[in-house]
Amino acid sequence: MAVREILLYPDPLLKTACEPIDSLDDATDALLQDLIDTMVDAGHSVGVAAPQIGALRRAVVVDVSKSKLGRDNNHGLLVMVNPEILESEGEKTMREGCMSVPEYTGNVVRAEKIVVQFLDRQGCDQVICASGFEAVAIQHELDHLDGLLFLDRVSNLKTDVFRRKG
Ligand code: ZN
Repeated sequence: MAVREILLYPDPLLKTACEPIDSLDDATDALLQDLIDTMVDAGHSVGVAAPQIGALRRAVVVDVSKSKLGRDNNHGLLVMVNPEILESEGEKTMREGCMSVPEYTGNVVRAEKIVVQFLDRQGCDQVICASGFEAVAIQHELDHLDGLLFLDRVSNLKTDVFRRKG
């Protein structure tokens, strides 16, 4: 169990595609616990992806249940290994932030509903349907596994990115 340091843009590891996890061994389980600990430590952020703590592996944690925007519609804590979006539907634009890009937020268009498949912490195959803020949070975290940040998704860096008031 450990809170890990979050890598910050423009760290090159954040631009690197991650490798699938082939076994849920002790090292993988420790990585998953570190992701949870790091998410909770950061004022209970809504998600962290493995590359943000320097592990180039396809794992994320998401939990929007503590957030005002997500508390009415969520699956609680999601630990997702090798996640893949099977279906997506609709469009939703939200102002996104990211612990790896602490000084900025940006307007991003994403699917409003998704069906996502993954292995849970026990290695069981799961398929869930997520919508609204939870769906947006999952899509944001999954982008990290392909080396993408929300900055890569905004349509215009001049008009859709905002400096946080400090
Ligand atoms: Zn992020």
